[in-house]
Amino acid sequence: MMVVLADVEAAAQVIAGQADATPLVPSMLGPRLGGDLWLKLEICQPMGAFKLRGALNALAHLPEAAAGVTCCSTGNHGRAVAYGAKLRQIRAVICMSELVPQAKVDGIRALGAEVRIKGRSQDEAQLEATRLVQDEGLIDIPPFDDPHVIAGQGTIACEMLRARPDLDTLLIPLSGGGLAAGMAVAARALNPDIRLIGISMDRGAAMAASIKAGHPVAAREVASLADSLGGGIGLENKHSFALCRDLLDTVVLVSENEIYAAMQALYYEDRLIAEGACAVGIAALMAGKIAPSAQMGTVLTGRNLDMEQFTRVITGQDVRLDEITVKGAPYAP
Ligand SMILES: *Cc1c(COP(=O)(O)O)cnc(C)c1O
Repeated sequence: MMVVLADVEAAAQVIAGQADATPLVPSMLGPRLGGDLWLKLEICQPMGAFKLRGALNALAHLPEAAAGVTCCSTGNHGRAVAYGAKLRQIRAVICMSELVPQAKVDGIRALGAEVRIKGRSQDEAQLEATRLVQDEGLIDIPPFDDPHVIAGQGTIACEMLRARPDLDTLLIPLSGGGLAAGMAVAARALNPDIRLIGISMDRGAAMAASIKAGHPVAAREVASLADSLGGGIGLENKHSFALCRDLLDTVVLVSENEIYAAMQALYYEDRLIAEGACAVGIAALMAGKIAPSAQMGTVLTGRNLDMEQFTRVITGQDVRLDEITVKGAPYAP
């Protein structure tokens, strides 16, 4: 195994005091969902997402002479890298596609990082990051397919299982799989019987399609309420694909309508403002796509949402996502 529990524990030392110890709180939705549900509030991280864990761990392992760093990102990773680079006073160039919401772009610029918007997909943004590595000697910090990043994200599972050793299921939002791979490495090592479920949206779910195909495949990138879950896993994926394939029990897909309803439930019942990506586990439970268990945990991965879109969701209005419209409905408890 290329990342093991010891790597995750080492990462925990590296990020201690900077990106750790977020609250784990019980959801009001538990009774309705058929079991206790614990929410790990990564929305409370600096920069509003868990990505800081992996980014800080990767930055701590840079070669001494690094001229600066670059990365491609759907937004939150770029913001975490920009924040970490600022702490270390090194140059950061963040490459993103046109699908990234403006709020995230603005957040990154505000940290003093350079931003490059390239193409309509993560793969196109990655090409620009690769060019910067070749032409300007920057070091690429991948958003998910990197052992240090994976180990950093895994620290979330250690904290959750230390706080609640009785957790029997982890519902993990799944995109490139850095989060799921790291959490699965740690959780499996700490409790071999724990149920580990990755959840993605049903449009453009690259990891789910790749696991099914048995090798990394490309997926069409589309606008989603869970925009942080968009993007491919990289056809040359070296780490996160194999770990997710080997360690997750299953991957479940949810629709935009299901995410919409779960965002409302999280807001009205738990009074929490969270990105669509955070709501996919709750969406799968509400839709009956996952059998509940006694002690479930999920990660509220980030809160960097487009407030105009969020307002439409919680007020029951339609939401336009490129070529589709998610039909609005008022919250119905
Ligand atoms: C990056 C991200 C994810 C998915 O993480 P992966 O490691 O790419 O699977 C989920 N939610 C939010 C808010 C994110 O920023």
